[in-house]
Amino acid sequence: MKKTSAITLGILTLLIFSCQEKSFQNKENQLAEKQEMLFPKGEKVPNDKFTGTVYQSILSDEGTRVSNVTFEPNGRTNWHNHPGGQTLLVTDGVGYHQEEGKPVQKIKKGDIIKIGKNVKHWHGGTDVESMTHIAVSIDHEKNPSQWFEAVSDEEFKNEISKK
Ligand code: MN
Repeated sequence: MKKTSAITLGILTLLIFSCQEKSFQNKENQLAEKQEMLFPKGEKVPNDKFTGTVYQSILSDEGTRVSNVTFEPNGRTNWHNHPGGQTLLVTDGVGYHQEEGKPVQKIKKGDIIKIGKNVKHWHGGTDVESMTHIAVSIDHEKNPSQWFEAVSDEEFKNEISKK
């Protein structure tokens, strides 16, 4: 009997500790998410203009569009252009940007990328890292972005292998 009680007590103690540990970790995760997420992550976007898992939250949409975009690893835009031009402010992670006819460029937190009017390009995460940027699409309301073909897995792998 005594032995059984000791075992039961032991199991209970373990359970209590593991629950406390879990709850502590959950709180830590919530805190980290709050600290890291400066702007809302938004909703997962459909794959008609993107490949992979991409989240977008439109922060402002009068005249110029300002949106917070998060690309999970392998997530990327299709090829597209912005008639008014676009500035990307990378707020987290590491990713890629490529203008048509130019080598792919690795971009990271703190980088500012200026994309000229009507320049065909794509942007996204790397194959292993996610990337978040604020996209400022100038004069988007009157001159919305034009969307083209997807960056295929083969094209993506081929381009990033050159980095
Ligand atoms: Mn763009």
